[in-house]
Amino acid sequence: MGGVPTKHHSKSKVGRRRSQQVLKRPLIFVCLNCGGPVLPHKICPQCKTYTKKTKAAVPK
Ligand SMILES: [Zn+2]
Repeated sequence: MGGVPTKHHSKSKVGRRRSQQVLKRPLIFVCLNCGGPVLPHKICPQCKTYTKKTKAAVPK
């Protein structure tokens, strides 16, 4: 099954769908040790450390 053709989507319907995407975007935090991007409740992939206090990165 193919997708629904673009001309069958109204602008409001596309906007309604995309308005939910920003809510489901994963939160990215900044590692206090090395400054790299880390996921909350996970160890840092670069320096392999876990700090309880992390700072939320500025959302795009
Ligand atoms: Zn780190």
